[in-house]
Amino acid sequence: MNAQRVIADLRELARRTSTPDGAQRLAWGPVWRDARAWFAGKIGELGLRVEPDSAGNNWVTLKGSSPKTVIVGSHLDSVPNGGWLDGALGVMAALEALRMHARTTPPVTLKLVDWADEEGARFGRSLLGSAAAAGSLNANDVRGLTDREGTRLVDALTENGIELDRMGDATRELKAIDARAYLELHIEQGPVLESMQKPTGVVLGTFGVERNMIRFTGQAAHSGSTPIAMRRDAFLAAAQTALECREIARRHSTPTAGVVCTVGIVNVEPKIVTAVPGVCEMSLDQRALDGGVLATMLHDAHAAADRAARENNVMVEWRPLWRIEPRPFDAALVRLCEEAVLEETGDAPRLPSGPLHDAAEMVPHMPVVMMFAYSSNGLSHCKEEDTPAAHLETSIRAYLRLVEKTIDHVARG
Ligand SMILES: [Zn+2]
Repeated sequence: MNAQRVIADLRELARRTSTPDGAQRLAWGPVWRDARAWFAGKIGELGLRVEPDSAGNNWVTLKGSSPKTVIVGSHLDSVPNGGWLDGALGVMAALEALRMHARTTPPVTLKLVDWADEEGARFGRSLLGSAAAAGSLNANDVRGLTDREGTRLVDALTENGIELDRMGDATRELKAIDARAYLELHIEQGPVLESMQKPTGVVLGTFGVERNMIRFTGQAAHSGSTPIAMRRDAFLAAAQTALECREIARRHSTPTAGVVCTVGIVNVEPKIVTAVPGVCEMSLDQRALDGGVLATMLHDAHAAADRAARENNVMVEWRPLWRIEPRPFDAALVRLCEEAVLEETGDAPRLPSGPLHDAAEMVPHMPVVMMFAYSSNGLSHCKEEDTPAAHLETSIRAYLRLVEKTIDHVARG
């Protein structure tokens, strides 16, 4: 395995597809197409070829002695002014995994995938290609999407040889693969590994999310003439609920399985310095890796809001905004991932993923695991995104070890 070669490829890709403001591989655009053409050249050097599916995801197949398949990959698209590692790291590390086996017949089939439009940065729908392959994309939900210039998604797709109404065929194409594992290396995009001073970590799955608006309704009143005991202050009920939700998150967090909650929006009415707020609306975003824990957190938040409403003599109503189930990764692959990281670094920290990834779309279809590489200053989706060179090399080596272990595991299983 040659981690230095992976880093050299990443630097070459960054040189070709970045401006001083960062990576410019916006999905379905010319720079992204150039990145993919360059990548196809690298694949050609191995005597292999890139084959798109109906959703525009690019696949490379290295046939093994068994049709049982290990899938490796990530995405080449970036946000505008993006980082050099988000997505590209996983694709270049996957390329190295193919290189390690290209001159022989591996015991199982290896497939590399470069998902199309993971970021959703142009049209607003993330995980577009992987969702199409997973069967979770409804074409009618995205048919009306346009970018900032007014270009329609359907036209951008056509420009790339993709028909929106045929994208769902990628599901059948994915199902035809005897997929036994999906392995993705990705930059963490957060501060957890850095805070632990660990180069690389095992990802346990992607968080489930419960996102709601909570509206408290009391009575607006004069701030001078209304005694405290007689007030129906909607803001105080909201504030009490927000603090209680933080306690709920603390209560459900363990050292290996943290959960989070955020109140990101608070609006009061009538918004006058001399008026007791009669209405207060706040958002609540709760996230956890365990579905049972997430459900309990939501239940506890309801109880906390009811209590706060009672104590402040106000009413409370909930309005759901969005939710998604947690996507825990495969226990056997998590174990292999731990072994690989442990052998490379002597310690295998485990962490959940706050952001969603293409890997989450694969969870219902096959065993999945991800590995994270350290993010400098926890930054991503910006030109400052980086992993220190030594940590980058360590992460790549650990990932390639994981691929080898998984090939053995699948070949024996
Ligand atoms: Zn990414």
